[in-house]
Amino acid sequence: MKTYQDLLKKLIIFRQERQWEEFHKPKDLAMAAAIEAAELMQEFLWKTDDEILVQVSKDKERFADEIADTVVYLMLLANDLGIDMYASIEKKMKKNAERYPVDKCRGKSTKYTNL
Ligand SMILES: [Mg+2]
Repeated sequence: MKTYQDLLKKLIIFRQERQWEEFHKPKDLAMAAAIEAAELMQEFLWKTDDEILVQVSKDKERFADEIADTVVYLMLLANDLGIDMYASIEKKMKKNAERYPVDKCRGKSTKYTNL
């Protein structure tokens, strides 16, 4: 079974082979992640929910590519900052569970500060 660490290792090797570390400053990785997220948003822009469903069924790879691009930059950024992404997500989920207790927020989109 492949793990997050296996994927991260592949990304790091891919970057090392191309000597791209010098370009991957934290600022640039953060910007690249945001730009890739914007490319993903562009696929949705001005489309109705139904049009998006049709588009995704016709060309899911296009959406998958943009999601992957975004996640790849975030994985590299977290690694370079010494952040254990797996542990960070688990920790954040615990915080979110405290902020959004099921009995208070079930079926609501209200921000935790207004619950
Ligand atoms: Mg892209």
